[in-house]
Amino acid sequence: MGLLSLGTPLDWHDSRHHNEHVREHGIIQLINMFKQHAGRTQDTFLWGDEVEYMLVDIDEAEKTAKLSIDKDHILKSLNDESLSLHKSVDNNISFHPEYGRYMLEGTPASPYNGNSLDDYVYVEKNMIKRREVSESELPAHIKPLTLTTFPRMGCPNFTSPCAKPIGPASQSLFLPDEIINRHVRFPTLTANIRKRRGCKVAINLPIYPDINTKLLDDSIPHNRDLFDSDKEPFIGASKPGHVYMDSMGFGMGSSCLQITMQAANIDEARYLYDTLAPITPIMLSLSAAAPIFKGFLVNQDVRWNVVSGAVDDRTFVERNSEPYAGYNVFGGLNIGKDQLLSSVDVNQTLNEYGDLKNLKTDDGKPIQRVPKSRYDSIDNYLGDGSYSTSYFNPKLNDIQAPINKKVFDKLHNEHPELFDTYLANHFAHLFVRDPLVLFSERINQDDELENDHFENIQSTNWQTLRFKPPALYENGTDLSTKPGWRVEFRPMEIQLTDFENAAYSNFISLLSKAIIKFRPNLYIPISKIERNMKTAHNVDSVLEDKFWFKSLDQWNLNNNDFIGYDLSWFDRYLNAGNDELGHDEVYINGYSRNGAIINQENGNRSSAKTVESINEVDDEGTDQKYTINEIINGNDKFPGLIRLIIRVIANDLLPAQQSHHCESQVLAKNLIRIKHYLLLISQRASGKIPTTANWIRAMVLNHESYERDSKVGVRVNYDLVQSAVEITDLLNRELVLSFFGETVGEYLLGSL
Ligand code: ADP
Ligand code: MG
Ligand code: MG
Ligand code: MG
Ligand code: MG
Ligand code: MG
Repeated sequence: MGLLSLGTPLDWHDSRHHNEHVREHGIIQLINMFKQHAGRTQDTFLWGDEVEYMLVDIDEAEKTAKLSIDKDHILKSLNDESLSLHKSVDNNISFHPEYGRYMLEGTPASPYNGNSLDDYVYVEKNMIKRREVSESELPAHIKPLTLTTFPRMGCPNFTSPCAKPIGPASQSLFLPDEIINRHVRFPTLTANIRKRRGCKVAINLPIYPDINTKLLDDSIPHNRDLFDSDKEPFIGASKPGHVYMDSMGFGMGSSCLQITMQAANIDEARYLYDTLAPITPIMLSLSAAAPIFKGFLVNQDVRWNVVSGAVDDRTFVERNSEPYAGYNVFGGLNIGKDQLLSSVDVNQTLNEYGDLKNLKTDDGKPIQRVPKSRYDSIDNYLGDGSYSTSYFNPKLNDIQAPINKKVFDKLHNEHPELFDTYLANHFAHLFVRDPLVLFSERINQDDELENDHFENIQSTNWQTLRFKPPALYENGTDLSTKPGWRVEFRPMEIQLTDFENAAYSNFISLLSKAIIKFRPNLYIPISKIERNMKTAHNVDSVLEDKFWFKSLDQWNLNNNDFIGYDLSWFDRYLNAGNDELGHDEVYINGYSRNGAIINQENGNRSSAKTVESINEVDDEGTDQKYTINEIINGNDKFPGLIRLIIRVIANDLLPAQQSHHCESQVLAKNLIRIKHYLLLISQRASGKIPTTANWIRAMVLNHESYERDSKVGVRVNYDLVQSAVEITDLLNRELVLSFFGETVGEYLLGSL
């Protein structure tokens, strides 16, 4: 979660005077970073994951499950070498603070070697260690669980110990400030977002309509009179038929799975970033795990737009939204009165400001409309420069995302050799934002050595992908030992088990490896990725919806090269060695001669849409709508993403010739595990097994105490958490099979 400098954080009204200073020096730091690292060309493919946990206090006598908010001290002992007897160091694991006081983030201490087959199996072992070590620091009744959202977060009495929602930082009607990490950065961030915006954040999710559902959020208190903001839900912030949420914690207090990969050089990183962009909504849909918010079943499956709304610091005028009666259109921005027409004041309606021309904050930044939250899908491709065959063309950046013109000019006009138009545009877009937290001790920095001001803006642009440039180091440092140009993949929801989290992590890192090796052209207009992001929110979108994707015959790959590299490749390799595996293999599983989709794993839940023959095609025919099943598992015309991965395993990750016949038991065991990682993804894509969201929703709908009113009560919450524990620890055979299906489930149960 970015910087955790110690010191005195400035309140928004003090820090805003330094906004331009932070941006100016952030850009100088960025230029210095580029100067120092532009020449790196041969960095190895390294990668790492980030897993976020929630500490849940389970009371078996009372049959309650609550978020545990007084165990955050364990972070100290987890990372303190003297206290924890090097538990973390010796196990190559590392823990970091997160937004919630009930949260932990765990990563490998040093990244994985992406060129070693063993490391793709080691990932899960590392994740298991993180869980074991953190559990060992906690009492037995508190479990670190990987739930994307806590079902009853924001309902009465959802924390242990009990805390009341009366906190000044969030002013939330539902979430106590005690759920926020105690490091001053986090409450300040929460308060400053609210102060900049000029009102509390407001997130409205459609309630899932069941037969007894009153389409009404009856949990909003009508008579609280603690803060002026208490009236907001009644003057425009809450929407009928929706669950209303009013605080940063509803979003940043959810858990996700992130993967960071290091590319060989900057151009490869740009191409990887761009090529992963169309994958982001697909993986959001495939990892869906969040059908419940604030004790309501909602009519969507993922967390993404909740986090987006939860940190949306834009003012009314920036959002192009009419202010609540009596509220300032400019929120917490300071507009000199002299700039305003004499006849209007800050409480006027939006129209009276017209196109905002010439309006500036007191810090000199022009006021402009900003269509998206700081937490949202990416707005621009980086362009693949001279890399690859230059698939990129500027028309693909078809969202007119606002930029900071001053930043663009500085980067591109003064340093064209480092920042071409698209790179300059990327950073100029990130720099339309203001810094949210500034520590008074850190205002003046050494721009040759420090990059906190750059990171301040960069790390509070929470997008589906993050392009991570290398940091600044002292002259004479051996840069080859320091992290290089990296791409972070950020859309995925966290899964219940280490097995699944390893599977999704490996899927992305192996796919990235395959992308770098085979260099497919997956570019589609950015606006279509944006539409896919919306689609990915839908209930069961993985089966019920189609997604824009590059036409299957336009990937610039030779499809014949991938025949035979379906999941059955593993069995054939393990049974016979790979000598006989040629390109004339029979077609198996969804890659048939006759054009019909014959995925044998395709199962019961797959809807008719899957085999619809007429696809929606765009004007130029370069992209169409496909099912996720087609994109992941392939069809008669193209390999699908899994075959790219299997071919990269077969070609690049197997040991040298002599061990081909699987003398090595370890190799066989590892390949079988990797096969099951891919099988999990494949079967979720085909509908053979449910997504986490589908499974959770079904648990609620079938629970004996559920009243078909879309409410998730205390007992359902408890049983859900208990089931999550039983799946996480593979304790309950029936549950494990209902969750993973027979093939993956039996494998996991048998492999214990
Ligand atoms: P952030 O929260 O800013 O995304 P973290 O440090 O929490 O960053 O996580 C970054 C991930 O990147 C970790 O899994 C870490 O192991 C991994 N990582 C560290 N160095 C490299 C590198 N050189 N290349 C790729 N991944 C790396
Ligand atoms: Mg995190
Ligand atoms: Mg992190
Ligand atoms: Mg324990
Ligand atoms: Mg998070
Ligand atoms: Mg991260």
